[in-house]
Amino acid sequence: MNTNREVRDKPLQVAQRILDTPASATVRIADLAARMRNQGIDVLDFSAGRAAEHSPQYINEAASRSLLAGDTHQTMAQGKPEYRQMVARKLARDNGIEADPEKTIMATLGCKNGLTLALLATVNPGDEVIVEDPCFVSYQTTIAICGGVPVAVPLRPENRFRWTLEDLEAAVTERTKVLLFCSPQNPTGVVHTEAELDLIAQFAQRHNLLVISDEIYERLTLGGRRHVCIATRPGMEGRSITLMGFTKTFSMGGWRIGFAYAPEQILAGMRTMQQHLMTCAGSFTQAGAGAAMAEDYRPEVKQMWRDWEKRCEFAVDEINKIPKLSCLPIEGAFYAWIDIKETGETSEGLVQRLLEEHHIALVPGSAFGDSGEGYMRMTCVKSWDDLRAGLVRLKDGLS
Ligand code: PMP
Repeated sequence: MNTNREVRDKPLQVAQRILDTPASATVRIADLAARMRNQGIDVLDFSAGRAAEHSPQYINEAASRSLLAGDTHQTMAQGKPEYRQMVARKLARDNGIEADPEKTIMATLGCKNGLTLALLATVNPGDEVIVEDPCFVSYQTTIAICGGVPVAVPLRPENRFRWTLEDLEAAVTERTKVLLFCSPQNPTGVVHTEAELDLIAQFAQRHNLLVISDEIYERLTLGGRRHVCIATRPGMEGRSITLMGFTKTFSMGGWRIGFAYAPEQILAGMRTMQQHLMTCAGSFTQAGAGAAMAEDYRPEVKQMWRDWEKRCEFAVDEINKIPKLSCLPIEGAFYAWIDIKETGETSEGLVQRLLEEHHIALVPGSAFGDSGEGYMRMTCVKSWDDLRAGLVRLKDGLS
């Protein structure tokens, strides 16, 4: 038995999973930028994936009304019935999905929470999860934290950052259980067409994989493109977990609210995990998010999205005028994925130099996976003034 003394003398040890989890490179850049700002340096920050705008006022008001009316208690783990009904209406209206709000929809605390629940509900220790490389910085660590093994399959520039069947087939083993992907994609800006989704869908069916589809950017498609849910493709309804949220499209990252649509059995598993981990998504945040997706989107929101598209197009045009940098048109989401290979610098090195010498913060491509080396990511939906000034600094930094 431990005496008090034995306990006291034993050095405190963090868990192995902490030692195994790298600090996020995005956070490192953001910290450095914050330190410089504290020293009075005017840093323009294009690193974090958030827009300059705050959440729309009518949404804030809906949440405030609910809060002030006493909506301060925990909800069902799966979310309020009326929130789930709103989600079902949204999915039918925008995405052609007929979901049962009782059995196949749940409220989440943003897409990240949806992802964690989906992995906990489907992945056994040692199961392999195929992910895109490059991909959102938290995928690989979240898979590992949930006991899975991430298997990164490259998105090659010569294939315009789409998977090939050869690369997917080469990655599959008998331990492969799940395929996780994102469209519109962070960081490459790819929006999958129906044919491209069908390649993934047929591969998943051939190997009996579940698909977790991160669709957080689904309203943000550019150039008249249309977002298609993989869950609506032939054979996919019963094996797709669809994650959506409000963080990006409505600038509601601080609210922590989103939702998942999944087959009944998986959703029940996610609900059990939520009961123990988070209890439920916020009560009044569900009310605000309900207002965000009510009926058609408000003109001011549509106007904001149109303006974001203009900022993305402007950024890409300006970046392509800068020697040694190049960038494909952005199909969706709001990031420029900038090819820096001609500079001869590493992505970490270039990003650090741009921050220290030119006071502009971007994210090194290596933060998104091995295939991200040779790139850096710029968030284009900062204010027009910041965007223009930032692009001048970027040009100065490269000349
Ligand atoms: N998925 C992707 C692809 C993202 O880019 C982000 C935010 N950067 C998230 C999920 C996190 O979403 P949420 O804030 O809704 O948890």
